[in-house]
Amino acid sequence: MGEVVRVVFLGPPGAGKGTQAKFLEKEYGACQVSTGDILRKAVQDRTAVGKKAAGYLEKGQLVPDEVMLNLVAERLREKDCAKGFILDGFPRTVAQAEGLEEILGELGWKLDSVLCMRVPQEMIIQRLSGRRSCKKCGNLYHVVLNPPQREEFCDRCNGELYQRDDDREETIRARLHVFETQTVPLVHYYRKRGLLREIDGAGSVEEIRARVFRELEEGAA
Ligand code: AMP
Repeated sequence: MGEVVRVVFLGPPGAGKGTQAKFLEKEYGACQVSTGDILRKAVQDRTAVGKKAAGYLEKGQLVPDEVMLNLVAERLREKDCAKGFILDGFPRTVAQAEGLEEILGELGWKLDSVLCMRVPQEMIIQRLSGRRSCKKCGNLYHVVLNPPQREEFCDRCNGELYQRDDDREETIRARLHVFETQTVPLVHYYRKRGLLREIDGAGSVEEIRARVFRELEEGAA
């Protein structure tokens, strides 16, 4: 693998995008750009973007493309992204993918690959309903599949763990519907461009991690 990685993680909520993105971040020194994390923080801080986005997050719907593209264009121009990036949760629509191509063109960058994680629906529900995140550092856990050493506290920074508001069953269903209708077309979009690499997202965190690294290395070979 070259020095700089520029990848997109594609997959339904609960596929393990965030968990795996954090591994890549550590291994390659690239930065994880999670649009969901950015939006949740904006909502919490009551910024202008946060005020626009809050209602969409609550319902499990997509924040408008224009808002997302401005946000990502700004984020990718920050200095740390020059070391590489892992887009986690973006793009989610064809319009966002087209906008991303433009942004990258302006920066003189290209994507290395788009890692598409596949997981059966029942596994998604199981993963999301047990998911916990650290309030302080954002590290991810699962109460059964990837539990912290000390219940309700982060192994890494000792921060308190919490459950996302949108990991409730009715919102999960809305998010899955949005994924099927608006995000799945990106599979075709990136396959056509020769960038798509499919990953079996079933199994343990470690098993999936090994698959992700294998795909990236093969893609670079
Ligand atoms: P995530 O953490 O990726 O599951 O995102 C949580 C929520 O943030 C989603 O359900 C959307 O409401 C919003 N969101 C995150 N990324 C995007 C995006 N690329 N486009 C539109 N909305 C997004």
